[in-house]
Amino acid sequence: MEAISKPLLKWFDVFGRKNLPWQSTPKNPYHVWISEVMLQQTQVLTVIGYFNNFIQNFPTLATLAAAKEDTVLRQWAGLGYYARARNLHASAKIIMAQYQGEFPREFAQIINLPGIGKSSAAAILSISFNQNHTILDGNVRRVLSRYHEVSGHYGQAKTLKRLWHLAEKHTPNQRIADYTQAIMDFGATLCTRQNPSCQHCPIAQGCQTKKHKTQAIFPNPKPKKPKPTKKIAMLIFINEKNRVYLQKRPSKGIWGGLWSFVECENNKNSISQAITNFDKNAQKQKTLPAFKHSFTHYHLLIHPVLIDCKNSNKTFYPASQHSLGLPAPVNKIISQLNKFAL
Ligand code: SF4
Repeated sequence: MEAISKPLLKWFDVFGRKNLPWQSTPKNPYHVWISEVMLQQTQVLTVIGYFNNFIQNFPTLATLAAAKEDTVLRQWAGLGYYARARNLHASAKIIMAQYQGEFPREFAQIINLPGIGKSSAAAILSISFNQNHTILDGNVRRVLSRYHEVSGHYGQAKTLKRLWHLAEKHTPNQRIADYTQAIMDFGATLCTRQNPSCQHCPIAQGCQTKKHKTQAIFPNPKPKKPKPTKKIAMLIFINEKNRVYLQKRPSKGIWGGLWSFVECENNKNSISQAITNFDKNAQKQKTLPAFKHSFTHYHLLIHPVLIDCKNSNKTFYPASQHSLGLPAPVNKIISQLNKFAL
């Protein structure tokens, strides 16, 4: 595997961000931790102002732990995902109680703090203490997906496993803190979500998506969940004047307030029961071809059933030339009735 760490570190030495407020020398793990949590869902430029304000209000881990939760949430206001602030506050209390206020240095200790995942724990330790840990945040996932043309979405276990494997392979043994920062900066500034700057890319030579011009389709998007299919029967009662029975639907729910046929589950018993309930003399005549109507969250498979209903005292309507609002599938059935019965 062609290493990306060398060219990325070279690029970082020239272009990497080295003056962010949490990049003091020596590193302050409290600052690195706060920045990592803020950066989980927010971009660097936005985080800078919030970070400075937060540190001004809670300059040390002890001050954060001693603060009221409401005060912490107020300083977080605007960053969103408030669970992050609550977790920071809870973690600060744990660190005060269990580690005498010293930020822990063991991976197992950090990963057990509320709201810290594997990649964040690795980033905190590698950036703060130059420990050899591999990160796989959103930026790194995107870079590696493109560089290696990794198929699938990271939400799928197999894809995530492959990405972790690649991330570990690429992590160098030296300059870990710089490499961690380098690959995050590279993803945030060059290998961006839209229109990556491949012409300025230090690792373009080995990039598979650059080679195949497939940058726009990697990382692969989250696969859409297949929509469930609900099956119903639409009962088309037709009287001796070839008029059809339509009923107004409740105002809430699908096709609210429109007019439609009687509906029931698509099985023999439900259909017989619904016919008898409507009129015990009605007779099932034929079943029309089923068709599918799609909504945002599901498909409706409609089985139209024609039913002879002579001498009913219910109100029937002409199949056309009426002023009722009808859902599209009802209109579709009506337009086909000529072929079958009317
Ligand atoms: S060549 Fe383009 S797509 Fe490939 S890693 Fe570089 S910036 Fe990303």
